[in-house]
Amino acid sequence: MPKVHIAIDDTDSPLGMCTTFLGALVTLRLSRKYDLIDLSYLIRLNPNIPFKTRGNAAVSMHFEIPEEDVEEVFYYVKNLVEKMASKHGKTQPAVALIIGENYKLQTFYKKALSDVIPLSYALKFAQKIRKENKALISGKRGLVGALAALGAYPLKTCTYELLFYRPIIIRTPSRKLDEQLIFAIDRKYRSQVFANIDYEKSRILVAPHGPDPVLLGIRGFSYETLLKIAEEISSKISYSFWFIYKTNQGLGLHTFIYKKINMVRPYQSVRVLGKVEQKPIIMKGGHVFLRIADETGSLAVAFFKDTGFLNRVARLLSEGDLIEVAGGIQPPSSSTPITLNAELLRVIKTSPKLKYKYPTCPRCGHKLESAGRNKGLKCRKCGFRTKEVALLIEKKPRILEPGLYIQSPRAYRHLSITERLIVYKGLLPPTCQKIGKEQ
Ligand SMILES: [Zn+2]
Repeated sequence: MPKVHIAIDDTDSPLGMCTTFLGALVTLRLSRKYDLIDLSYLIRLNPNIPFKTRGNAAVSMHFEIPEEDVEEVFYYVKNLVEKMASKHGKTQPAVALIIGENYKLQTFYKKALSDVIPLSYALKFAQKIRKENKALISGKRGLVGALAALGAYPLKTCTYELLFYRPIIIRTPSRKLDEQLIFAIDRKYRSQVFANIDYEKSRILVAPHGPDPVLLGIRGFSYETLLKIAEEISSKISYSFWFIYKTNQGLGLHTFIYKKINMVRPYQSVRVLGKVEQKPIIMKGGHVFLRIADETGSLAVAFFKDTGFLNRVARLLSEGDLIEVAGGIQPPSSSTPITLNAELLRVIKTSPKLKYKYPTCPRCGHKLESAGRNKGLKCRKCGFRTKEVALLIEKKPRILEPGLYIQSPRAYRHLSITERLIVYKGLLPPTCQKIGKEQ
């Protein structure tokens, strides 16, 4: 039976709705009739582009569907999305469906993770796969995300997100969640969940603050763990339904592309390797700025205060340190040059910090001092003088050690790499025995 991939994007607005809600609903309903070939995907794309939807998320679903049903399935999803998407002037939902192989879309997805894809390019691309792959596509602005979400299949390295939804008629910005329950879950499953709590500020990060139907979302490395958590929480809160997505979150995927400094462009997410040009400048407000250089040029780098730990580490950098910095490229303004806003720092090699000292007097052991410009050294105690100025060089130890440094969880954006991933080795494949529950 043919493999069919369906993707949705751009259904939400500041007025409400959430693309993950529609993806979950479609998956739960279609899976009653068709077999899943994978969990549904929640796909995040380049977080550094302007004019994106909130969170820049698209979803894709993966089924075995008989060829004669494919068209009907597409129109079912399209109608549901049109009916339920937020009715907002700027919301332009897109639905895309492809049968079989998606090789071209895989390249499209990889580009969308870290680069800027113009809508005009996505429209042309859609025309091409309509012809060549018998794809069914509707919509406009959401096309970039929908096509990328199709190209994310098969997602080999992944994390998961468990989402609880509330009825869509409830639109209050606050969620009235039992915060102690979330803290308890995070403590219990600490090594297998991530970015759910900002421990520095003792604040939960699982709940949005808008009118959308998401009640809470718990991110984790293991599908089995999220299933356990779903069962544990579901008896303690009131909700409409829950759903587990496979996602590309928390892996730092947008920062894998190395760029030479002369090749970086505004709004790209990049990784740059270079040497620190001078001591970091700490601005009023705590932001840290420095410049790094490679053989093609030099680039301003900002470590903003709200990156927390990363900002504090950046203060310890020194001229000559060899580092790798990843983040988003901010275009130049009238007062600032083109700048890399750092999300991740790898210190590869620190340069030794040198201190020059005067030698001691060979006659009496007292410390020598300068006898004046070009006059050599003198001893204040015994009067010894010498013209041979050989200063002693002392290497001072550096506090900063080579290694990977990332921002504090409060600065976390969906694709940002999480420290717990570095600890967690599992990344288990899902068994797909249960994907959610509609009440
Ligand atoms: Zn002396």
